[in-house]
Amino acid sequence: MRYISTRGQAPILTFEDAMLTGLASDGGLYVPETIPMLSEAEIAALAGMSYEEAAFVVMKPFIGDTFTDAEFKEIIAKAYQGFNHDARAPLVQLGPNHFLLELFHGPTLAFKDFAMQLIGQLFQAALARRGEHVTIVGATSGDTGSAAIEAFKGLSNVDVFILFPHGRVSDVQRRQMTTPSESNVHALAVEGDFDDCQAALKDMFADIDFRDHVKLAAVNSINWARVLAQVVYYFTSAVSLGAPHRKVSFTVPTGNFGDIFAGYIAKRMGLPIDKLVIATNQNDILHRTMETGACTKEGVVPSISPSMDIQVSSNFERALFDVYDREGAAIAQLMEEFKSGEFKISQGAMDRLRDTFASGRASEAETSATITDMHKRTGEVICPHTAVAVKVAEEHLGDVPMISLSTAHPAKFPAAVEAACGVYPALPEHMADLFDRDERFTVVPNDLDGLKTLIKERLA
Ligand SMILES: *Cc1c(COP(=O)(O)O)cnc(C)c1O
Repeated sequence: MRYISTRGQAPILTFEDAMLTGLASDGGLYVPETIPMLSEAEIAALAGMSYEEAAFVVMKPFIGDTFTDAEFKEIIAKAYQGFNHDARAPLVQLGPNHFLLELFHGPTLAFKDFAMQLIGQLFQAALARRGEHVTIVGATSGDTGSAAIEAFKGLSNVDVFILFPHGRVSDVQRRQMTTPSESNVHALAVEGDFDDCQAALKDMFADIDFRDHVKLAAVNSINWARVLAQVVYYFTSAVSLGAPHRKVSFTVPTGNFGDIFAGYIAKRMGLPIDKLVIATNQNDILHRTMETGACTKEGVVPSISPSMDIQVSSNFERALFDVYDREGAAIAQLMEEFKSGEFKISQGAMDRLRDTFASGRASEAETSATITDMHKRTGEVICPHTAVAVKVAEEHLGDVPMISLSTAHPAKFPAAVEAACGVYPALPEHMADLFDRDERFTVVPNDLDGLKTLIKERLA
């Protein structure tokens, strides 16, 4: 299996190199050269398997000979052993033909653990074999940083530095980043906002001397291995509801388009998915694009579902690549236009997107009302991101079973949840002592040279 860039100008890589590289050198994203298919019999055989067994079957065709079967099984086992539910991704029924896929039973209570835990083990295995060490630096507004720290803590071939805006993440998010005691974890509270953290990260990658000196690596959501890990739960949940003999649809609360793109890959592999519904909050660039065919940037307006407050959905480029018949030059052109704020998608490409994807948006008031309403009707307490999906899913219910993705535990966003339904969601038992654990982090000025010096000193 070989990996090519969506902009057509970067070297073709193996799975291992695409994973360790992240972003392609032409600014594009790596995608598999061909999408492997599972037969109806192979999909039917997933029924009754453990999550780990199904994960092996679904992901194996993508990794080529990067790992032996035995090695890959061990990597998968380690990735999901820290989850707090035997099913890993259990389904709950909300109403007639409407189901919730709970993706928040991982160590940091958000779906990002599914991908991050796997990528941690994949990095460690590949680097140990190569005898190499890398430094992962990430910027976070909360969820990604805690998932990365949990995934990479204690791994011997990796140091992980996470930059977060000092005083601007929630207490739960900060404590998830600052309480791990492993010496390869470095939580840095930057005296600035999230954009400052991200700008510092970008500048570090642009500084070739620094990048090479510390062997900088990134694990942001454009990394192909992260998308791949998320394909698995589309299969396991659909099979639970009768696939491949029965179709299912999914509604996905979407920011960077990573999670829903994994659903698209599942469909391309042969899973009978009827519709993939894009659910956005008030930052609705993707919904507007689906309605009008014009992808137009507007300012980000903070919401109660902050992990979806995004204007540039990086992974959307991967879907565009397919509906433009995999012509890298066409994608490079669109992305060039987007620098000035807008690009228009051709009619043919829009028709193809609409064959697979539907869309909807939930305002702040609708999101809160959905939390209130779900609690009244089902007793379920859901997080604001999940509520965005449930609201949009309800507009798309029909004969085909609908699965809404529940992407975070309500205890990660307790204020918004309590305001909506009067219940203050408690942390699950396994992290009930989060507020008693010792914190360890360094407050750093918003100064690029100072940051680089600190990182080099920590590694020495
Ligand atoms: C990251 C995140 C999302 C959005 O996922 P994308 O892959 O960026 O579309 C939704 N909900 C929660 C809780 C998240 O952390």
